[in-house]
Amino acid sequence: MKKQKTFLKPLRVSTFFALKKVAYQAAFAGKEYGYNAEWKKLYIACYPPSSLVFLFERVVTVYKDFFQNAIKKEEGMRLLQELEEKFERLNTVIGSTMDFIKAAEEAFENSGEPFGKVEFNCPNCYSKAKAIRLSTPENPTHSVTIRAACNGCGTAMMN
Ligand SMILES: [Zn+2]
Repeated sequence: MKKQKTFLKPLRVSTFFALKKVAYQAAFAGKEYGYNAEWKKLYIACYPPSSLVFLFERVVTVYKDFFQNAIKKEEGMRLLQELEEKFERLNTVIGSTMDFIKAAEEAFENSGEPFGKVEFNCPNCYSKAKAIRLSTPENPTHSVTIRAACNGCGTAMMN
């Protein structure tokens, strides 16, 4: 079995503009691949699944449909506007979750161990939070499973 050293990095975009940019690049790259499974793996499934990535995939689809002449520019603009509103609603939640994920990842980096349990200070409420990272190669969607939770404020994440 191939040794997996790279971990899925969460999609980090703080504005819809930034999200659109990444989505546009992904859709543009897909032209070469014919939007096949390999392309999806490289440009969408490369991020741990989340509400943001779900939204991201929909933005990629708008560009993809536009490139394939499946939709007109006006319709694409209207769809992007709708997705932007969804993004703004998600954004406040995402902001604190991303800080939480980042803190958990840093705790793993500092521990020097790729897998196992770590403790870290919750960036939202400053209480002790715990994270666990497991190697799960049999899982079809992610070969690394991460769970983190804070008892103080109830923030929790899993990929
Ligand atoms: Zn907390």
